[in-house]
Amino acid sequence: MSFSKLGLSDPILKAIADIGYKTPTPIQKKAIPAILSGKDLVAASQTGTGKTASFVLPILEKLDTEHTRRAKRIRALIISPTRELAEQIETNVAQYGQYLNLTSMAMYGGVDADPQKQRLIEGVDILVATPGRLLEMIYQRALHFDELEIIVMDEADRMLNMGFIDDINKIIDRLPEDRQSLLFSATLTKDVRFLAKTVNNDALEITISPKATAAPSIEQWLITVDKDTKSALLSHLIKEQQWDQALIFIEKKHGAAKLVSQLEKRGIKAESIHGDRSQAMRAKILSDFKSGEIKFLVATGVAARGIDIGELTRVVNYDLPFRPEEYIHRIGRTGRAGATGEAISFVAMGDFKNLCAIESRLGHIITRKEIEGFPVRKTVPVSILNYVPKNKKIANKPSSPKSHGTTKETSNRKNKSTKKNPNKETNKVNQHIWGK
Ligand code: AMP
Repeated sequence: MSFSKLGLSDPILKAIADIGYKTPTPIQKKAIPAILSGKDLVAASQTGTGKTASFVLPILEKLDTEHTRRAKRIRALIISPTRELAEQIETNVAQYGQYLNLTSMAMYGGVDADPQKQRLIEGVDILVATPGRLLEMIYQRALHFDELEIIVMDEADRMLNMGFIDDINKIIDRLPEDRQSLLFSATLTKDVRFLAKTVNNDALEITISPKATAAPSIEQWLITVDKDTKSALLSHLIKEQQWDQALIFIEKKHGAAKLVSQLEKRGIKAESIHGDRSQAMRAKILSDFKSGEIKFLVATGVAARGIDIGELTRVVNYDLPFRPEEYIHRIGRTGRAGATGEAISFVAMGDFKNLCAIESRLGHIITRKEIEGFPVRKTVPVSILNYVPKNKKIANKPSSPKSHGTTKETSNRKNKSTKKNPNKETNKVNQHIWGK
């Protein structure tokens, strides 16, 4: 199937052809005609599936290019959890819409608001914004919604996990009733569905990856390791396996700086991005990473959200994330849209419950590899696929104190018998899954 069958017109088809997309991805095949027909949508689709184009292309198609642009009036609003993702989406809007007479802007906090206000006065058709700055602009009457036709909430699960629910509700309250609403999320948790009901009207539900499993082109493996040998192990892998590039996820900001200096002591040049770095610095580092000038980038989860690096071959979970959704998002940075990728996780003894929650979500255990010269002192037990954590706080630890997220669905609770004697059941459960 080609893009021309989806109801897109020539200027858009030409832009897509220029970029080199040949056939629509599954989410694009389903979402584009539905959005063009005016339906509200709730779509479960992870990053790397081409989901951005699946809403940007029909939005470009639907907006009338003959429309007289008015100051402070936007016609399409895309809400994104982070500035990096907002920039990414806006770059795509500009690329896909390069032959159309439409204007767009990415708007986020942490930078001077005045140039953004000026742009809104000049007239913006498609606004991609993070919730905080958007609300600020609304309160300052720098932006009005009386001409708004379409709203998209991208990575809704992530927005909830980041504690944006109050801001989002305040924004929704100000939108005109007569609008088309689209919600995209990697996972459709209970909270996401609740939000979808508030935003959408009789929405069509599209699920591309029902369990939000990772794309099959990503080879996932893990290494059990003691916490104090992680940096030596990483340096060893980079050198021994001659890695060209890697995005390395770490839990804490100060840990990122420390790891960079540990790598550099071993002759490996690396950089880090985290919330404390200025927007300008983050943008510069990201662009150097994309161009290949920086080969190893250590990033905290939030900072790395939405990074789209065309050919990224490898991500490393130096620290295993607390939430299965986060794991899926992270590994979605590699193996994107057909390219193959590798996702390597370092798992220490304290990560056992998180690992079980992640593997339960994936529906399979992750292959373990042993690395010569790195024997573990504190072994990580064999994984249990339907493990039910006794201490829910650990597996369900929210990413911020304001979190509204939930990971209730992360473990399969059907077979509670495993709880009492997990190891005995492990093989049975795994064989069942592998044998499917
Ligand atoms: P996304 O899921 O929106 O983050 O997109 C992931 C990557 O896939 C981006 O680098 C897009 O440029 C690329 N992409 C999107 N649609 C297609 C397509 N139909 N064919 C090839 N690549 C695509």
